[in-house]
Amino acid sequence: MVLFFAIPHIRIGGKPAFLMSFPKREFNLMGWTFLPTDTLLFMLFLFSSIIGIFLLTALFGRAWCGWACPQTVYLEFLFRPIERLLEGGYAGSRKLDREKAFWGPRRVLKYVIYALLSLFLAHTFLAYFVGTEQLAVWVTQSPWDQPTGFVVMAITTIAIWYNFTYFREQTCLIACPYGRWQSVLLDKQSIIVAYDYLRGEPRGKGTEPRPDTMGDCIDCKACVTTCPTGIDIRNGLQMECVHCTQCIDACDTIMDKVGKPRGLIRYSSQEALAGKARKLLRPRTVLYPLAFTLALSTMLVLLFNKETADVTVLRGLGAPFSEEADGTIANQVRIKIANRGGADARYTITLDGALGGRVISPENPLIVSEGTTRETSIFVLLPREGFANGERAVTITVSDGARFTTTVPWRLQGPSDGNGDTRTSTPATTPDEAP
Ligand code: SF4
Ligand code: SF4
Repeated sequence: MVLFFAIPHIRIGGKPAFLMSFPKREFNLMGWTFLPTDTLLFMLFLFSSIIGIFLLTALFGRAWCGWACPQTVYLEFLFRPIERLLEGGYAGSRKLDREKAFWGPRRVLKYVIYALLSLFLAHTFLAYFVGTEQLAVWVTQSPWDQPTGFVVMAITTIAIWYNFTYFREQTCLIACPYGRWQSVLLDKQSIIVAYDYLRGEPRGKGTEPRPDTMGDCIDCKACVTTCPTGIDIRNGLQMECVHCTQCIDACDTIMDKVGKPRGLIRYSSQEALAGKARKLLRPRTVLYPLAFTLALSTMLVLLFNKETADVTVLRGLGAPFSEEADGTIANQVRIKIANRGGADARYTITLDGALGGRVISPENPLIVSEGTTRETSIFVLLPREGFANGERAVTITVSDGARFTTTVPWRLQGPSDGNGDTRTSTPATTPDEAP
């Protein structure tokens, strides 16, 4: 819980350790910034994360669900303990249900505490997507000044409250896709929470002294009662099991009481329970690490060799070119620059190959703040005869004057009756000229 709260506040190199900012359209992770132009990098990151989860699951079962998923962590270690304290555990809660005491003082107090916690968790959750700075603005300003922020926060708080008050394990059973993958992610060698049926069966309450023909399970159902997803682990591996291990604790307590060794329910694998040897080398424990290493190393190589800016050149909107009153042909060229260099930069745009023409660039150099993308247009005016077969090849160069320079070949559009005459020589680029 401390980690979930702390992550959005941690800064690496001045950037959030994790921020998936939808308003800014960027993803910050461990000091790196992924922009919308980094689709390949992002896909490699996602792919290696998913393969990493596959590998973890193949080796250790649903370790994520039981030990790290916010749903389990908050539900089992925060919301349910509060409920037990106020309502007296499972039996107490059922009694209040039977008495229809939905508005009794203990239940109302629970709802109020849940609401306050949900409000806090909503702030933490949204900090991952809007950043702590934006969150501070939302928190300190009136809802009338920040209606969007207020509505998003209110909806998130209500959703979290409903999830932890009513929906609970249904999130794992119905909403979460990871649970559905289990049947293909696990094999018989994966570590799971398992009931030792060889030792436990035949189960039964039995008598003292317990006959040797009976197993160690006294059928007290403590493991069933404690299970948050309501399953009986003695029926074998089930998709609903989130590996919270509460049945292990419950059964160990019973085993202590009846003087039997602990571990009737324990971490084990299906093959180990059947008395077979542990096999670490299996196709999936070889192929998953290979795919993981390949994807991650490709991503890192691309990441460390990435230029400090991305330049995209696009045609102007509407007609490919226009003819001015004096007969010259005008082309609009849009230039999009994404600055990923770690500092604000001034990008100078120059155009070669337009001799005899005039270039108007409203903002040149273009100042682009660190981690942002800006777009500008240049307007190229050329005499009609400057086009051969309706086109003219030029090159556009964008440079920050220090670390970054790129050249983009481009074709200006014009009438097909031009003759390709480029003999006159006026300056090709006119920075800072007003449009
Ligand atoms: S069967 Fe055991 S480990 Fe699985 S969800 Fe239920 S209590 Fe948790
Ligand atoms: S808690 Fe243990 S002894 Fe009791 S029913 Fe479950 S497996 Fe059997």
